[in-house]
Amino acid sequence: MDIFHDNPMLAGVRQMLGAFAKQSIRPIATLHDREETMPWTLMKSAQAFGLTQTAVIDGRKAMTGKDEEPSDGKKPSSAARMSCVGSEELAWGCAGISLALGGSGLAASPVARMGTDEQKAEFRRCLAGVDEHGHIKVAAMALSEPATGSDISGLSTSARQDGDHWVIDGHKQWINKGGSASIFVFWALTDPAACRAGVRGFLVARGTPGLIPGRKETKLGIRASETAQVHFEGCRVHKDMMLGIGGSTSGLADTKKMLDSTRPVVGAQAVGIARAAFEFLLERVASGSVRGTPMASHQHLAFELAEMEMEIQASRMLVHRAAWMADHHQDNVRFASIAKAHAAKTAQMVTTRAMALLGEEVLEPGHPVDKWYRDAKIYDIFEGTGQIQRRIIARSLLGQNPT
Ligand SMILES: Cc1cc2nc3c(=O)[nH]c(=O)nc-3n(C[C@H](O)[C@H](O)[C@H](O)COP(=O)(O)OP(=O)(O)OC[C@H]3O[C@@H](n4cnc5c(N)ncnc54)[C@H](O)[C@@H]3O)c2cc1C
Repeated sequence: MDIFHDNPMLAGVRQMLGAFAKQSIRPIATLHDREETMPWTLMKSAQAFGLTQTAVIDGRKAMTGKDEEPSDGKKPSSAARMSCVGSEELAWGCAGISLALGGSGLAASPVARMGTDEQKAEFRRCLAGVDEHGHIKVAAMALSEPATGSDISGLSTSARQDGDHWVIDGHKQWINKGGSASIFVFWALTDPAACRAGVRGFLVARGTPGLIPGRKETKLGIRASETAQVHFEGCRVHKDMMLGIGGSTSGLADTKKMLDSTRPVVGAQAVGIARAAFEFLLERVASGSVRGTPMASHQHLAFELAEMEMEIQASRMLVHRAAWMADHHQDNVRFASIAKAHAAKTAQMVTTRAMALLGEEVLEPGHPVDKWYRDAKIYDIFEGTGQIQRRIIARSLLGQNPT
């Protein structure tokens, strides 16, 4: 029985996006992986499913067609669990394509948390319609820099106030959709003396002078999701576009807080990759034979399957625990890291073992297990590496500030 059988909304999202992943994502996954291209046509058609680039800001209505229930800030929602359910299904289809479909959520998340009504309207305005190539418009979240990934307190992108504007200089690296985004949410140091407390988020639209999309990166995995550099050279951003001016501090603590809501979703994607490789292997073991002996009669293969199933089920439960806590407005910093780290480990374990057990066939070009193996690695790197998740978990256990 599905764990969501008593929640028709979550069960419905799982069913709808699972069917979409099977019918529309799987058939084009190899092509976009090989060509390292974004699935622009699919991204446009996916909007009909509520997979809009502003879904995080638009809330529940984006996925269910129903209005968000009024929230007093205490009433539980299902938004985080819904994102996790959907993300697992989409990543089962293809992790790179799932990031292309929902990747603007990373930029939308801080705007939803810290943005003023004007900033939310600007975000929506920049993503309305199509760009000069006829592609739907997307957003990028630019935090990482060439010398600053894990330790974001070492940001060197600077914001200097000049009248009603901030003047931005610096370089961002490894930015999802960095080459094609129509709006960027980026982070810069407004006061070097304040160090961590001086980090602020800003919104800036594509085409603003001094905002220069840079080189597109060639990657091992998630190749259907574009990753690029972004440069700021004297880029002037109006002061009204600084996040947090509506009340929140928008400093580094808030920046890190946004990862507590996105990490369970990233963990769910890792579960989707693990499940994809596991199902492929299961089908092989159930129906295949080795020198006349059914594969299923080999105990070591059966035990490998059992081990994988235990880890996948455990990862999914951890993801949904962290998401449930977010939906119930509980501090989930430790559990978001546990979920993300465990799911990333599971995706790597399952895909690596599937490669070994399937043998030479996975070396054929375009083999799906080879792709899932390559896709899984990034889940141990972005949104905080495996080491950083363990650092957060340990600090939380020891009563220290986890972030
Ligand atoms: C495909 C891809 C897409 C990405 N998308 C985005 C995006 O859209 N936006 C964005 O802002 N960033 C993005 N990133 C950047 C990503 O978040 C960083 O790569 C990641 O945070 C790690 O930073 P780093 O690469 O600088 O490694 P480093 O921070 O230099 O770490 C190097 C190694 O040291 C370890 N390490 C570092 N500090 C510690 C510590 N205190 N204790 C123990 N070990 C430590 C790390 O775990 C790692 O193994 C993306 C990266 C990739 C590869």
